[in-house]
Amino acid sequence: MTERLNSNLTIKTLAYDLGLPPKGDPVSEIVKFCQSRVKKMLSEMDCTQDSSSILSLVAAKLDTEFIEVATAQETLQVQKQFVTAGETGLAQLQREFANGVLGITVLRLKKKPFERKYISVINCWGRSAERSYFTKWHELIHLLTLTDQSRLSFRRTHVVCDKKDPEETLMDVVAGHVAFHPPLVKPYAKRNLSFELIEEIRAAVFPEASRTAAMIGIPKAWPHPAVLIRAALAPKRFSSELQLRATEVSVNQAATDDGVFAIRNFRVPEDSVIHEVFTGKANRAEAVEEMEQWISSDGTQWVGGEFVVRATRMGDCVQAILSRN
Ligand SMILES: [Zn+2]
Repeated sequence: MTERLNSNLTIKTLAYDLGLPPKGDPVSEIVKFCQSRVKKMLSEMDCTQDSSSILSLVAAKLDTEFIEVATAQETLQVQKQFVTAGETGLAQLQREFANGVLGITVLRLKKKPFERKYISVINCWGRSAERSYFTKWHELIHLLTLTDQSRLSFRRTHVVCDKKDPEETLMDVVAGHVAFHPPLVKPYAKRNLSFELIEEIRAAVFPEASRTAAMIGIPKAWPHPAVLIRAALAPKRFSSELQLRATEVSVNQAATDDGVFAIRNFRVPEDSVIHEVFTGKANRAEAVEEMEQWISSDGTQWVGGEFVVRATRMGDCVQAILSRN
């Protein structure tokens, strides 16, 4: 996904407009840009740095107000109230949320002196509430990367990745890095990264985040090398034959700095515990394995040396965390 974003013209233009170095990958440059802006905002304030106060503080700095709506009826009330106040950008709020929009940020058209410049309405209907922490960050990333000050609105829609607007996909990628603020994860780093530890950190430090978002975001913020793999049956390119492959691979910054190279779509080595868990020999398994076991049919190899691999079955796929301290 990131490779496609890196070559996308909208994303390249955004990186250029933000004044980022043209040599690097636009996506990682935009992630770094947002991380350093958030870090700077936090350094200017003396606050208890837990995840909800960080979120509120960044929202205040970016001049937006979060409004959570839990039901269709509540959404309609909010819509009426804002439309009466002249905020016509929210005239279709209820219909848009009913159609799957997860969050909307609009520029206040009739701003009073005591009001914030933007309004971010967050869809918390039913199961969308689980995503609200991430949606709030998604909305903030729009404002962190805003280059056109005259832009009136943004909408976060929940549609499958392939059909998603590149800018929307980028906001999710950046939010995945920024929502899990690394200094909050660091105190846990003397221990080994496991599924249990991720859940423990989520519950203690990011209680508003969903388990899915934490599973992706905490390994990213981990200060030691970590690689997250989702393995499922998938076809080889130009073939219909299904094999167990790494359909998603996420290498964290510490692993990249350590020279780890791993890309998606590689076939899972048959002697890996990931295979063992997939075939049902165990629901969970753990082993020390070499990244170099992963070899594609054209001879390309993953690089990175030994990792502890922890694999667990999740529905029709296997989730694995590779880590080392
Ligand atoms: Zn958006």
